Parts: sequence; C-alpha cells; structure tokens
Amino acid sequence: MKPLNLVFWSTPIGHLGSGSGGGVELTLVNVAQALMQRGHRITVVAAPGSAAGVQTMLNPDRVAQASQRGGALTVLEVAGTPPISAQHQGRETPVVIPSQSLLVAMGETVREMESQFDLILNFAYDWLPLYLTPFLHTPMLHLISMGSLSDVMDEAIDRVLHSHPRAIGVHTQAQAATFRRIPDLGDRCFVLSNGLDLSRYYFNAMPQEHLGWIGRLTPEKGLEDALAAVAQSQIPLKIWGSLENEQYWQGLQAQYPQAPVSYGGFLPTAQLQQQLGQCRGLLMTPRWVEAFGNVVIEALACGVPIVAYARGGPAEVVRSGQTGWLVEPDSVSGLVAAIGRLGEIDRHSCRTQAETEFSLEALADRYETWFQQVLTA
Ligand code: UDP
Repeated sequence: MKPLNLVFWSTPIGHLGSGSGGGVELTLVNVAQALMQRGHRITVVAAPGSAAGVQTMLNPDRVAQASQRGGALTVLEVAGTPPISAQHQGRETPVVIPSQSLLVAMGETVREMESQFDLILNFAYDWLPLYLTPFLHTPMLHLISMGSLSDVMDEAIDRVLHSHPRAIGVHTQAQAATFRRIPDLGDRCFVLSNGLDLSRYYFNAMPQEHLGWIGRLTPEKGLEDALAAVAQSQIPLKIWGSLENEQYWQGLQAQYPQAPVSYGGFLPTAQLQQQLGQCRGLLMTPRWVEAFGNVVIEALACGVPIVAYARGGPAEVVRSGQTGWLVEPDSVSGLVAAIGRLGEIDRHSCRTQAETEFSLEALADRYETWFQQVLTA
C-alpha cells in the first residue's frame, strides 16, 4: 500500500518505556516499527518522558532500514494529569476528567494536527478518543487493548461500531467475547493478534532450573497462584515486572513464606529477554481475561514453553502439548502437574511458532489490511 502519515494516540498511563502502561507500550512500539519498515511515517502523541523511553525500545538497525524506505517515527510529548487506569475502577464508575487532563491535552493535539494525517490510531483504553471519533475529519481507528472493564467504555465502543463499522481492532476473539453487551463484536472488529521484533529475542536451548513469571505485580495478574504452585513444587520462580501494587506483593510474600521466589524488578526488553531465555518455563496465571499477553509471545520467541490458564489471549496463542500446557483456570494443582510436564515440550517448537505467527512482518500485514479496508470504504 502507499505510505501513509499516521498519528498514534498513546496510552495516557505513564510514559512509554516506564512499564506503567503495561503491554500496550511494547505493542505501540512494535506496531510503529512494523509500519515504518513499510515506509509509513508515524507521529506518536504521548506523555512526557516517552521520547527517551521509545529510544530505549526501538531497534536502531530497523530504524535505519526504515528510513531508507521513507519510514520515520517522531514522538510528540504532551503534558497533563493522567487518568486512573480502567482496571483499577469499578464497572459503573463514571468518566472523571481531572483538572489539566492529559487525555484532553492529547485529544486537542490530535485535533489540531489531524489534517496532516491519513489515519489516527488510538491505543488509549479510554472513553474520550472513542467519543471524539465522529467529530474528527481524519478516520480514527482504535486498538482496544484490554477486555471489557466498564459500562461506559462498552457503550462508547458500541457507538463507534454503529457510526464507523471498521474502526475497532482487538487482539483476540477471547478478548472480544468479554464485551457481552456487544455480542457480535468478534465478527465486527479486526482481530489483530500481536507481534514482536524477533531479532531482539534470542533462542535459548539450555535453560536453568527455575521458572519465570512476568507482569505488573497487581491482583488481576494472579501472582498468588504462581507462588502457591512453586511452594508445592519447590522449583525456584523468578519474577519481573513493574511493581504496581507494593502492598499486594508484600502480602503475597507473607502468605507464601515457603515459596522459593525472587523479584528482579522491571527490565528493559534486551535484559528481560536474556533472563527469560534462561527460564525452564513461563507461568501465566491471570485472574482476568488477558486480552493478549505480550509476555507469552516474548517467551515463545526465546524458546520458553508456557504454562497458562486456558482462558483469554494465552489460550488462543499456546498450543497445549506443543508450545506449553493450558491448564484449567484457577487450578493450582493443574499448574503443578503442567510444570512437571515442561520437559515434554521442544523449545524449538516455541521459537518456530513465534517466527510463524508473531513476526513484525505478519503484524504489518494485518495492520495494512485493516487500514486498506478503512481507506477504501
Ligand atoms: N515488561 C518489561 N519488563 C519487565 C516486565 C514486563 O518490559 O521487566 C513488559 C513486557 O515486555 C510486556 C509488558 O511488560 O510487553 C506486559 O504486557 P502484557 O501484555 O503481558 O500484560 P499487561 O501489563 O498489558 O496486562
């Protein structure tokens, strides 16, 4: 397709590279890298600190290759007060706009610049960008990065689907199915899965004894089940991720004193993948319906099999018996049994699945198909 000028509306939760925004940070950077390779020019509207954060996440070789094809990435920082993240609010919580709202400032920036762009792509899981869709002249698309969490968001997505039938993208069918008030969402949206810069993840055929767990340390991620499982199996567990809820983490350590765990902090991708590759397996134990679970494909790219609950995004990605084991949701004994069978998984199959389904090239194809359909509509 012909190269486009694109503006990305980033998450307002923390700056890119901070980890506070969760998987959507890496998703945005990978979508940008995938599209730059095809010659598209991207401007990211994001919170202060994002320009430096994005630099640490980009692959300089890819950026150089992309610029030869005309591709470019610019980060425009916009200041303001961030909203409270949707997963920390109740289903019926009304929309609250704080004074000096970052979301409003981002919206104004996008509106002022929109005539310079062919498409706007929104990554913020918030009501405002959805609400603004019919008021902008440039087509606006939305990557919905989490499952259904609030009535206001569900209504806003439903309204956009009525006025702009191609404007909604999700990661997985399981995620789409969480939006119960939009029962046919899975048929009406684009299912985009996700992708990685595989050249930055190294296959490791020789793991150590320990297991890994990666994610924001917060109740919806269900870390307690991973601790309960390793307390039983006595296999060491290494944990990495942003410490979103310190009280929760301290409570877990007190609850499972016999669990052999260590916490390694939040690491940049280059270090994370190196640590990840040394793990015998990755435990994925979320309480909520994980929309996708970037860490699953990051682990597969390093040759690390997954033990995950059979729900949400991981259940659509992991091939049980080939690239990991899917376990009855919320069953600690199921986790323990699956950990015992990790040796049956060939680590090469994990890397192969990542290369076949989750490359940046495959990701660019999926996004370009989406854009093409919107622009020709
Ligand atoms: N992550 C990271 N460093 C860490 C731990 C996690 O960069 O030490 C990133 C990881 O690469 C992934 C994100 O945090 O992109 C977690 O995303 P995921 O989709 O698994 O869950 P979410 O936080 O969006 O619920």
